[in-house]
Amino acid sequence: MHQVIILGSGPAGLTAALYAARAHLKPFVLDGHEAGGQLTLTTMVENYPGFPDGLMGPDLIAAMRKQAERFGANFRGGSATAADLSRRPFRITIDGDAAECQTLIIATGASAKLLGLPSERKLMGHGVSTCATCDGFFFQDQDIIVVGGGDSAMEEALFLTKFARRVTVMHRRDKLRASKIMQEKAFKNPKIDFTWDSTLEEILDVNQGKVTGVRIRNLKTSAITDRGVEGVFIAIGHTPNTQIFRGLLDMDEVGYIKTHDGTKTSVPGVFAAGDSMLGASLVVRAIDAGREAAEGIDGYLSGIA
Ligand code: NAP
Repeated sequence: MHQVIILGSGPAGLTAALYAARAHLKPFVLDGHEAGGQLTLTTMVENYPGFPDGLMGPDLIAAMRKQAERFGANFRGGSATAADLSRRPFRITIDGDAAECQTLIIATGASAKLLGLPSERKLMGHGVSTCATCDGFFFQDQDIIVVGGGDSAMEEALFLTKFARRVTVMHRRDKLRASKIMQEKAFKNPKIDFTWDSTLEEILDVNQGKVTGVRIRNLKTSAITDRGVEGVFIAIGHTPNTQIFRGLLDMDEVGYIKTHDGTKTSVPGVFAAGDSMLGASLVVRAIDAGREAAEGIDGYLSGIA
């Protein structure tokens, strides 16, 4: 029986672990299927306050984890595969084992959807990215492809024009899904052009360990062409990692957890923090929510004591 189980080990989970550990709640933290979260998929982080020379995403996460461990947070690898929130203590199934807890912090994050090309994973952080605000700065005067036709793709493309020489939005249809206002902004920007009805067949060149170009398939003509680019941003949406809580907690239609009064979910004693909650998608917001959730646990436990 744990006072608090924290699901997820990205910035939100680790911050919740730090604050809960310092409140002597002995948090039990489950790493999740992408230990360390999305920051582990990026390379240099230059906009995190306090590090004037920047630091690598995985190093930042490792430092957060060490800090939480120093105050007594317990970590375990693996993922939660089922949950019963209908009775107290809550019951969480972790890869076949059952664990019980009085309170739960869900910081399972969201995963960027990927195209599924082997080269995309291999070159992630080496020219392939899912986050323009994190990595755009490294693409000064370079040619970039943004894959996707929704608001995220438009937002990423527009942001990247601050740095890039040219940004090509590649979409699998001939009409964007993005809102009219975002479409207009992108159409008006002289640095952005569009490649329609097309998809990425391959990202080159895994052997060189960096992006040198892309192989494009036109879905209408099946023609294949190679194009030289230095960056590929995949912006085809995110999936919140909340599947096991469907039907148990209030969520929006995509699966982001609805919260009220900060990080409280529809079940008292269950809190959400970070990208799995509706409306959060910045590391600083995740950290803030992690702290708030841990403080919420403390308040909740004193309330039921
Ligand atoms: P989205 O609206 O679901 O759009 C995803 C885009 O990626 C679609 O154009 C889709 O193509 C394409 N796509 C999906 N899977 C693909 C695949 N396997 N290969 C190639 N293309 C693929 O996702 P989003 O843009 O992340 O937006 C999510 C939500 O957040 C939306 O409600 C959006 O309005 C909101 N949002 C708002 C803003 C803003 O207002 N500033 C910014 C970002 C996000 P199809 O169109 O053919 O399906």
